Amino acid sequence: AVPLVIAVSTAIAAQSGFLIRDRSAFERARDLQAVVFDKTGTLTTGRFGVTDVLAFGGATENDVIQAAATVEAHSEHPIARGVVRSAEERGLSLLPLENFRAIPGKGVEGTAAGRAVRVVGPGYLAEKGIAAGDGQVETLQRQGKTVVFLLEDERLTGALALADIIRPESREAIERLREMGVRCMMLTGDNRDVAAWVAGELGLDEFFAGVLPHEKAAKIREVQERYRVAMVGDGINDAPALVEADVGIAIGAGTDVAVESADIVLVRSDPRDAAAVIGLARKTYRKML
Ligand code: ADP
Ligand code: MG
Repeated sequence: AVPLVIAVSTAIAAQSGFLIRDRSAFERARDLQAVVFDKTGTLTTGRFGVTDVLAFGGATENDVIQAAATVEAHSEHPIARGVVRSAEERGLSLLPLENFRAIPGKGVEGTAAGRAVRVVGPGYLAEKGIAAGDGQVETLQRQGKTVVFLLEDERLTGALALADIIRPESREAIERLREMGVRCMMLTGDNRDVAAWVAGELGLDEFFAGVLPHEKAAKIREVQERYRVAMVGDGINDAPALVEADVGIAIGAGTDVAVESADIVLVRSDPRDAAAVIGLARKTYRKML
């Protein structure tokens, strides 16, 4: 039979906004020493809006948005949705596209009007040895904005800055966890400057930036050499890290893959509920001893 305190805790868990999918993971949650949060869609809302457009080499802002949105229309990434919305708001039509391909953790590409069109992050530019233009891009990144670049036939023709909003609940979630003696970290594929800005805003203890999707689980293993760790994430990219962590916690509004890979689901998508999970695990298993 299920001990009474556990049965009661399951009911409290439901009231507190989380769903326990794996009971032994919930038990492990009492000893957690660190929580690693994904950035986009977990600590932030994951809804990007285009804030700045840079056009290079004779292109107009609208040219840049139109070409970028043409490729991004085939992607489900939160950045892609923001770019497409921006084109819609400006009443721009999209061009026909062929050979669409996503480059995981880096961007998207396709062929439009006979040209190879790519929308990529700064890591891709660095890899190809393409200069990211003048200091404007760094200025935007230091403001916490995510910058992506438009390449047409390998030539840099524009850049788009997008801002995502930190969830209002994130700051309190971090505060509560730190009060409980739990270290708070962030893992993101985004650029270092953007990550540093978010980490500073939230008072995080550590962050890891520019981490490619297939590297996220390995990062968790690294942290596990120091701490017993929970991962909190929402994306397909986070699924292997959720499985790897001592406790995997998914944001309820996240992708199905993340939810199915997690031990615990935050039904209200509120990061503060991650602190509630640890608090309830500590209370539940203390009572049983
Ligand atoms: P996160 O870990 O923050 O959820 P991802 O691993 O999904 O981020 O993406 C990391 C980086 O890859 C983004 O910050 C961006 O530079 C680039 N990227 C990924 N997908 C796209 C896309 N559809 N369009 C433009 N850039 C993208
Ligand atoms: Mg995410």
